[in-house]
Amino acid sequence: SNHLSDRIRNMSTSATLAMAAKARELRNEGKDIIGLSLGEPDFNIPDFIKDAAKQAIDENYSSYTPVDGYAELKTAIANKFKRDNGLDYGAGQIVVSTGAKQSLFNVAMVVLNPGDEVILPAPYWVSYSDIVKLAEGVPVEVPTQIDTDFKMTPEQLEGAITPKTKMLWFSSPCNPSGSVYSVEELEALAEVLKKHPDIYIVSDEIYEHINFAGGHVSIAGIDGMYDRTVTVNGVSKAFAMTGWRIGYIGAPEWIAKGCTKLQGQVTSGANAIAQRAVITALEAPVSKIQFMIDKFHERRDLVLGLLGEIEGFNLNVPEGAFYVFPDISAFFGKTLKGVTINNASDFSLYLLEHANVATVTGEAFGNPNCIRISYAASEAELKEAIARIKAVL
Ligand code: PLP
Repeated sequence: SNHLSDRIRNMSTSATLAMAAKARELRNEGKDIIGLSLGEPDFNIPDFIKDAAKQAIDENYSSYTPVDGYAELKTAIANKFKRDNGLDYGAGQIVVSTGAKQSLFNVAMVVLNPGDEVILPAPYWVSYSDIVKLAEGVPVEVPTQIDTDFKMTPEQLEGAITPKTKMLWFSSPCNPSGSVYSVEELEALAEVLKKHPDIYIVSDEIYEHINFAGGHVSIAGIDGMYDRTVTVNGVSKAFAMTGWRIGYIGAPEWIAKGCTKLQGQVTSGANAIAQRAVITALEAPVSKIQFMIDKFHERRDLVLGLLGEIEGFNLNVPEGAFYVFPDISAFFGKTLKGVTINNASDFSLYLLEHANVATVTGEAFGNPNCIRISYAASEAELKEAIARIKAVL
């Protein structure tokens, strides 16, 4: 392995995928593991979307696709941006990719030069910092705490900006915290950014529909931000289409062009069948997926109620996505069943080995006091998992 490039040796393995692999290993050994570590809806894809994919196969959508996506899909995406976000993106500003993960990687490679700083309000989605580093950018974490619902304040943003700052990346609703920025909060951040016109924004809105507070706000719609924002979205979460691998951006044209150029040399256009199915998914009214959102809402309340009964769990009320991100630092320094808990990784591992419940350490998301628990699981599993957690604490 000492022949591996520095690039890949210095990269961390996705902690969420590593946890899932560890859980799978224990399951293979015969252990009854409840997996609450993955960010993956446990629903089946709605039938009307599956039908569109079957039809696409029969209609022979089998050739290479345009590098930036089928024209009909880009039209559906433009209409979706207008309908749901009030944003006007033309075809030349939209790029379809193999998942929002690729969209994010493209943008990093296209916008960052070596040494450019990228502000990441922490906790942030697990892959942001490694994607930034791969593009030779420098992640600058801005820690936030549970008492501000893990949201970055304008003062914190101002304090993190240096002459080297090139971008700000954040998700709302946030993975892992579930926090949703209000229009007032985004306007306050925009006021700071207006003083620094050379900073670009990645607004990751992949959880936009899984929002229990009502009213998703896109920062691109806020005065002065449109020309400097890349709005990232995809179908993995809201449509339960994680394995279909379709994500997309709406962006300033020069960024979109750069992403298309890069993608043209690396992956070419995204999967043909999946793209055709996504046209149907995006054209459908949001009411078609409301049943999933309602279920997530019920489960959030269930999980908060049950975890709230465990002493040492400090919880806030996440307004979106499908995660809770409790602060468990009250357990640090304690010894349970002979295991000393020094940090969130120890705690998460303890839950896996003694309660047979897989969670993810907050360290992976830039917050060492918390763990992430995904409630994209059935109510029965959630109840059983939390009962087991309570029993071993
Ligand atoms: N952004 C966030 C905040 C996510 O949670 C995820 C998936 O976990 C992604 C992007 C990547 O989504 P995709 O499946 O479209 O690559």
